Amino acid sequence: MDVIVIGGGIAGIATASAWSSVMPLLRKAQPTVTTAPCCPRRSTCGSARRSCRHGVPQKPASCSSPASILTPVPRNCPLFTKLLKQLLEDGGVQFQLGREVTAIRADAQRAAVELGPRAGEVDGKGRKSRDVELIGADAIVVAAGTGTPALLATLGIRLPLHPLRLHTLTAPIAYEERAPHITVVDSVKRITMTRINQRMRVTGGAVLESVAKTHKPMTESMTRRALALLGQATHDWIPGAAKVSAPRAWDGIRLVSPDGLPVVSPTGHARLFINAAHGPAGWGIACGAAKVVAAMVYGITPEVPAETLSALRMDRF
Ligand SMILES: Cc1cc2nc3c(=O)[nH]c(=O)nc-3n(C[C@H](O)[C@H](O)[C@H](O)COP(=O)(O)OP(=O)(O)OC[C@H]3O[C@@H](n4cnc5c(N)ncnc54)[C@H](O)[C@@H]3O)c2cc1C
Repeated sequence: MDVIVIGGGIAGIATASAWSSVMPLLRKAQPTVTTAPCCPRRSTCGSARRSCRHGVPQKPASCSSPASILTPVPRNCPLFTKLLKQLLEDGGVQFQLGREVTAIRADAQRAAVELGPRAGEVDGKGRKSRDVELIGADAIVVAAGTGTPALLATLGIRLPLHPLRLHTLTAPIAYEERAPHITVVDSVKRITMTRINQRMRVTGGAVLESVAKTHKPMTESMTRRALALLGQATHDWIPGAAKVSAPRAWDGIRLVSPDGLPVVSPTGHARLFINAAHGPAGWGIACGAAKVVAAMVYGITPEVPAETLSALRMDRF
């Protein structure tokens, strides 16, 4: 079966991997998540700040609110993706890097994508080429991150998925004994603190944006406010762990749905599938979502409960 996966991010590459022999490797790499309720400075429990022992932030004894999720520290994401790409190429998968899919065509018999010209490609008269290449397949999976809504719109499919700008700051570890060895997620303020070797990476300060604005940087004052939130959360949860006065800041866009769950779903077109809008957890759930969408393409019932599948369907909105 020929399958086109649109999207060069983790969702796309994991989806492509789900058809090949690398699936056992993906299964091994899928992180497990453990929950451990904690809540610093929550009005519900009145606890000002919990202690931090053995590098693991502790839940205050008086606290009953599930305000955080603790997960294992992620593995090396760039290396994981590069190895997958290499394995896929060895297995015959073709990558069309630097190409943009400008439209999708799908009907009961066949599906195809229109690929825009390569960067710098010129026509016979030396002008910028406008030639579109048509590539057909048995099925298409749209896993194009924030590009997904526009691509689906070419088929008249409109979903309430929105770009969200997320901030991150990376700061060197200040005191080793105070730095956690697991990821801490403040699920109330939606801020994640992850240790990456000798640095802490703090992510959050989300801003909902229009598609048009995602191509422009945010105003300085908005960025400052977002980064201040991250600094405060670091101070609340892991006081003294990182030198937040010397951080490296970055922001990026992710696609989110109104209920926060991804869309891993068949569509009204028998040959078209979606694997997108993973929000804050795209890396965490990429391999599992890929396995589900691969089963759908093959017409196999995915190995997840039926309620989970319906919670991920596009027609839930
Ligand atoms: C600051 C920040 C921190 C994060 N931290 C974490 C974390 O700690 N853990 C975690 O699990 N997740 C995290 N995430 C979320 C995670 O990064 C995303 O959920 C994940 O990267 C989404 O992957 P994706 O493949 O769906 O989309 P993307 O990575 O956006 O990839 C989409 C790809 O599709 C391509 N594309 C788009 N349109 C087209 C088109 N028309 N034609 C061809 N190609 C197209 C794009 O060029 C891109 O390569 C974070 C996100 C941000 C912004």
